[in-house]
Amino acid sequence: MLNLILFGPPGSGKGTQSEGLIKKYQLQHLSTGDILRSEIANQTALGLEAKKFMDKGILVPDEVVIGMIGSKIDACMAQDVAGFIFDGFPRTIPQAEALDRLMSFKNIPLNKVLSLEVSEQELVKRLLERGTTSGRADDQNEEIIRQRVVEYRIKTEPVAGFYDKQKKLVRIKGEGTVDEIFTSLCKAIDSL
Ligand code: ADP
Repeated sequence: MLNLILFGPPGSGKGTQSEGLIKKYQLQHLSTGDILRSEIANQTALGLEAKKFMDKGILVPDEVVIGMIGSKIDACMAQDVAGFIFDGFPRTIPQAEALDRLMSFKNIPLNKVLSLEVSEQELVKRLLERGTTSGRADDQNEEIIRQRVVEYRIKTEPVAGFYDKQKKLVRIKGEGTVDEIFTSLCKAIDSL
């Protein structure tokens, strides 16, 4: 199996790059943001709970996302997938520890953590642009965007150090054209 984490701040291009990677490497995309938005669209109890946090640009509680990702992995494993791309997960150290436990319990490897590096100024610009077309409320308000970046710096950035210690982290320049960044990602994956 090939299992990857696409890591980086909001607006760093994780969703865009995942699309290319899942096609090229035949991987299953697991985006916690997408899963949460579909729970909201279906008005499930989980979705309604998560929405309160997402609307403010705050992370959803760990136990909610960990439980959710665990059941998605189980559902995919039953279908014999080639591997996973985790996008937007893990976003905290407890989430990273939970993922390690899940993967070792299922006896599947976590091969690499690809970290897209983008400046803060560029992030806010990209997110506001996305807000004009995505319909996502959390992309349309600069204050919520800045809050998401603050959450990232405080709670999520330490996750990079967690994987660096495990020698799994690769830093990739996340500015440039979509194709250039895709090429850098593929090089890092192919060097495995
Ligand atoms: P982006 O990375 O562009 O901010 P996402 O779609 O990944 O967008 O996430 C949107 C929102 O969903 C986040 O601001 C957060 O509230 C919630 N969310 C997504 N993934 C997680 C996670 N792993 N842990 C906690 N909250 C999450």
